[in-house]
Amino acid sequence: MASPEVLQEIDALRRAIRRHDHRYYVLDSPEISDAEYDALFRRLQALEEAHPQSATPDSPTRRVGGRPIDEFRAVVHPLPMLSLGNAFTAGELRDFDGRVRRRLAGLSATARDQEDLPERVDYLAELKIDGLAVRLVYRQGRLVLAATRGDGVRGDDITHNAVTIRSIPLVLEGPGLPEELEVRGEVYMSWPDFRRMNEEQAGSNEKVFANPRNAAAGSLRQKDPALTARRPLRFLAYGLEIGNPGLERHSQALDFLQRLGFPVSPQRQLFSGIEPVLAFCQTWHTRRHELDFEIDGVVLKVDRYDLQRELGTLSRSPRWAIAYKLPSTQVTTRVEAIEISVGRTGTLTPVALLEKKVVDGSEVSRATLHNEDEVRRKDIRVGDTVFLHKAGAVIPEVLAVVPELRPEGTRPFEMPTRCPVCLGEVVRDAEQAATRCVNPACPAQLEGWLRHYCSRKAVDAEGFGETLLHQLVARGLVRDPADLYRLTVEDLLGLERMGPTLAEKLLRNLQASKTRPLHRLLVGLGLRHVGEHVAQVLTSRYSSLHDLASASQEELATLHEIGPEIAASVAGYFADPANLDLVERLRQAGVQTTLDSHASREFRLPHLEGKTFVLTGTLSGMTREEASARLRAAGARVASSISKKTSFLVAGSEAGSKLLKAQELGIPVLGEEELEALLAPGPQEAEEP
Ligand code: NAD
Repeated sequence: MASPEVLQEIDALRRAIRRHDHRYYVLDSPEISDAEYDALFRRLQALEEAHPQSATPDSPTRRVGGRPIDEFRAVVHPLPMLSLGNAFTAGELRDFDGRVRRRLAGLSATARDQEDLPERVDYLAELKIDGLAVRLVYRQGRLVLAATRGDGVRGDDITHNAVTIRSIPLVLEGPGLPEELEVRGEVYMSWPDFRRMNEEQAGSNEKVFANPRNAAAGSLRQKDPALTARRPLRFLAYGLEIGNPGLERHSQALDFLQRLGFPVSPQRQLFSGIEPVLAFCQTWHTRRHELDFEIDGVVLKVDRYDLQRELGTLSRSPRWAIAYKLPSTQVTTRVEAIEISVGRTGTLTPVALLEKKVVDGSEVSRATLHNEDEVRRKDIRVGDTVFLHKAGAVIPEVLAVVPELRPEGTRPFEMPTRCPVCLGEVVRDAEQAATRCVNPACPAQLEGWLRHYCSRKAVDAEGFGETLLHQLVARGLVRDPADLYRLTVEDLLGLERMGPTLAEKLLRNLQASKTRPLHRLLVGLGLRHVGEHVAQVLTSRYSSLHDLASASQEELATLHEIGPEIAASVAGYFADPANLDLVERLRQAGVQTTLDSHASREFRLPHLEGKTFVLTGTLSGMTREEASARLRAAGARVASSISKKTSFLVAGSEAGSKLLKAQELGIPVLGEEELEALLAPGPQEAEEP
């Protein structure tokens, strides 16, 4: 019988794990690293194994961690979506192989006798992408349902969001297509897309995500599909659950899915026996940084379906598969100071200044600590020695403090009660764990806004970088973007390291910034949710800021790709007289706030005006983004999915389901040359079907 202490520990571990599950699966906001979580989980597993009488069916070790979310329709999975058992060392992988072979030989999993074991088992090794599991159901070749894993038995219906993910085929064709097909796979975000999206999120005043997994999970759970569509999500298929046309092996099923048009991992590899699998794991441990997406391990599956059936499943995970978790590189370093940076939206972010260390090939001397709660929870103090790693080999992250090495006399971190820049009042936003400076005139916020306004993605005022803007704000010369245009040579000459030639050049650059495409001016204003793409969508409908300001929230929400949240943000912005005043002062300063008077007007082509294009596949002479930008500049609309309203589909090589859909709906399909011809200024007419 377990002692009361052990029972108490088991109880405490179960409660802690349930709490972390909730934070991770439901709130997308874990409090501890995966390695810390795995350690708690393993401790509980070990205690339950040593004291079997303490095991209960509701223990987290018996269940899949997530939970469906109330806002979505719940879906019951006919075949449960399970988790995977874990292995952390080569020895544990060999143990797994031993258990598999003993079971297949009809021996108990712990039997010692090795003699009658099957020689070798075939394993398919796949990379374990860190995203979230999704189940896709097709009937007669059409996507009819997409659902998240939830608690393994019940998940969320996220079909409306899944259809916005380009790598999920909406229509399947090909020989051997079963009546019903269920595919499982991972929805994830690549590193470059994640970084680009976070930049755009920051630029449009929205939530920045800690890692691609959180970003993917958060994006898939948007209530507004228009927002999901903006997120660069991808899908990778790793299992065929229903609709197997008689294939006997998992590896064959993946080949079949690939033929049907699903993205399947090119890194998958079939092995005979466990030893070469260990080498595969080792290879991807060292090469994981070459991938443009995050992996947290390698998944190993018994390849033959008949053997999988023979092995069966446990309540939480199958017996025929295991995840080998890759260790992350960790170093120790010292916190020299905790600095507070104030962003464009007034958020105060604690940043650890660290003793320089090389991690995964590059020097790290700073790491964001995100917010007050995070610093408190980890109890990070100036002077502490800490474990540091790079999340996904890119973002420096302080994992934990080494308590034994804490020097005497350190003090717990305290968030300043006043803004370190303007000394104004700060407030705590309980929901977002954020502390914000609420002084609208705070120089740090103003500087952040001006940097954003002058940046290349906005009005591109060359030369107006951090140092110059800091001086202009500090001297009270500029209080908003409109003030920039009142600057004189004399004003500038009073600044450090400024001569007449440079001053005149800067004024010329400001002059040039007045005639940027309208959507870039809109980006510069910094409305929440309005990044480059949304700004383009808005200015393709409204040809002046004045028109846009007069549009009601309801009207905005009817626009293609503009959902309720974006509409509310835009309408809310222009409802504020201070913002209208700013737009008016910009206009008076000579900034072009209309499309008509605009430089880009000359590129508009009457025969494309009002036409809706959808692009698919790879173009050879330009990227899809360039093609979209040229079409928009010419007055056309560019949409992400085919509908009856689409005027033309432009199909490059390897065009997928969109091509099929366009053909089905009878929408004219253009090749790249035809697109070029349409974009060339000239008298040709684009005929609507
Ligand atoms: P898991 O992530 O360890 O493994 C199962 C999942 O792997 C599947 O659901 C699927 O989404 C994914 N997967 C990726 N590639 C796959 C492939 N080729 N074949 C099959 N599946 C593939 O298990 P889990 O139950 O999703 O999560 C448990 C893990 O999540 C923990 O080990 C921990 O790392 C993390 N976690 C962390 C916290 C925290 O607070 N930090 C809390 C809960 C869970």
